[in-house]
Amino acid sequence: MKRRRTYYQVLFVRADAPQEIIKSSYRTLMQQLNAHPDRGGDADEAALINRAYAVLTDAGKREAYDRELRSQYEAAVAAREQTRTAAPLPQVGTTCPFCSSTHPHKKGIPADAVCVTCESPLSLAGREHVDVTGLRKTRRIDKRSKLLFYVRWPQTRPGTGFTSDISPRGIMFETVTELPVGSILKIECSRFSAIAHVVNCRDAGKFLRPNWKIGVQFVTLRFKSSRGTFVSDLA
Ligand SMILES: [Zn+2]
Repeated sequence: MKRRRTYYQVLFVRADAPQEIIKSSYRTLMQQLNAHPDRGGDADEAALINRAYAVLTDAGKREAYDRELRSQYEAAVAAREQTRTAAPLPQVGTTCPFCSSTHPHKKGIPADAVCVTCESPLSLAGREHVDVTGLRKTRRIDKRSKLLFYVRWPQTRPGTGFTSDISPRGIMFETVTELPVGSILKIECSRFSAIAHVVNCRDAGKFLRPNWKIGVQFVTLRFKSSRGTFVSDLA
């Protein structure tokens, strides 16, 4: 589907362009069009340029147009969020969601069950103990702590990352590696281990300094020690 150009794109100006810039760009575009009157589609293009010009040079109309663009943008963002959350979370069936080994738990997986091959937890029961409000005493996940992640099994050198946010559903972490949405990871850190599903991957790097913000949802989760009660890092 071809995206419709905004009036700013039609006039080749930035969204914060002052009137003088809009006017001069308009004049240039119309001159170019008039210099080639035999080019196909020019009448439509001229009409579009005129419409864009009429809106962007009228303060009230421009403001209303900007509002409309913003709400379209927000609707598009919301739609993307929905497709993300609608993507099915892998389920623990008869095999480990990370390494695909079969496990012996035919009827119900115990909360502390781990995969005999990759040692990933097999149950999501741990999630019930994650409390980001810190009001209840429960298990702690540090808001900023080092973690290791595996993208396949076996993998001798796992990737490293740092958690930057937590929620009962999952975590955000930063790493130098891009991880495609939909990837399944095995995550290990001092407090917990998990199998997680990448739901977003955002480029937050700078030139020659790669940095990716990875959002994952827990598929399984298990805390490593029952010692220590929880004080929220978000509070
Ligand atoms: Zn496994």
